[in-house]
Amino acid sequence: MTKTALITGITGQDGYYLSQLLLQRGYRVVGLVPPSRQASVAKLDELADAVTIAGVDLTDGAALRQVVVDYQPQEIYNLAAPSFVPASWEDPLGTLDLITGTATRLLDAVRQAGLETRFYQASSSEIFGDVQASPQAETTGFRPKNPYGAAKLHAHWTMVHHRDRYGLFACSGVLYNHESPRRPPQFVTRKVALAAASIKLGLSDRLSMGNLDAKRDWGYAGDYVEAMWRMLQADTPEDYVIGTGILHTVEDLVATAFASVDLEWQKYVDIDPKFLRPDEHFQLVANPTKANTQLQWHPQVSFEQLIATMVQADLTRLQAGTVQPLPALP
Ligand code: GDP
Repeated sequence: MTKTALITGITGQDGYYLSQLLLQRGYRVVGLVPPSRQASVAKLDELADAVTIAGVDLTDGAALRQVVVDYQPQEIYNLAAPSFVPASWEDPLGTLDLITGTATRLLDAVRQAGLETRFYQASSSEIFGDVQASPQAETTGFRPKNPYGAAKLHAHWTMVHHRDRYGLFACSGVLYNHESPRRPPQFVTRKVALAAASIKLGLSDRLSMGNLDAKRDWGYAGDYVEAMWRMLQADTPEDYVIGTGILHTVEDLVATAFASVDLEWQKYVDIDPKFLRPDEHFQLVANPTKANTQLQWHPQVSFEQLIATMVQADLTRLQAGTVQPLPALP
């Protein structure tokens, strides 16, 4: 029997890699895309024709209930979120409604439809926030430090309540930063990759950065969608911390990206205070032991491979003229 998976946030980075994985495994993939954002389906590139798009507004509970009844999915992956954390300060309520509201409406739709649908909730290391212990595991306490983290935590608890009270097969994946050539350029990995490629090609001559001492646990998005899928194939619904367990500084990132194209980063990088963040926390690092042992999940792509691949992808795009250099020469 062909399985059906519904995905919210299908036009984002993770939506692409998850769709690719599910299509390869024989699923019918249905993306829930707000009618106002239909144009973003083009971001799925070669997958756009292979997936089904259902035009539905994620704030419309009745429409979500209908789509669940219409497609009778075996699995739902709720990935939709405005994912750039600093932006959540500009619209805390909108962030809450999109993240928590969508999770609540979808969980409710599954419950009301009386289906056995398995539900994946995209959670985030931002729920740990001002961490009490490092590294963080499934048992670590939560202390989000921004509206994005608070909304993700509320969505997480809503999912837990549906699992406990109604017996839904629902899981949270608490994912640390995961990157790829499909990351938008406001994220630091892509910003650095695009800048290194631009400088290599002579299209730019400098890169302004924020805090080079900031640390993150960075992994490859293609590895992380495998973890999402494995959670929904397990015997019991549980939550998992997904990360590499390795911290790198932003300086490591810059050095790795520039070295991959034989450039000395010190010649090009300056610090611009506008990229410094007031609410930083540098000890967000995963303890992925539970996923390693219970899901046999192990990331396949190293930090160095990830960054080099991102730089190469931007070299190719710049040469093809499909992205603009960062930053452009004056
Ligand atoms: P986040 O972990 O979801 O906030 O992902 P980002 O990729 O935006 O940021 C990762 C880290 O890089 C943060 O600690 C930033 O302070 C640090 N950082 C340093 N310079 C920059 C920069 O120029 N842009 C961004 N986005 N982050 C920077």
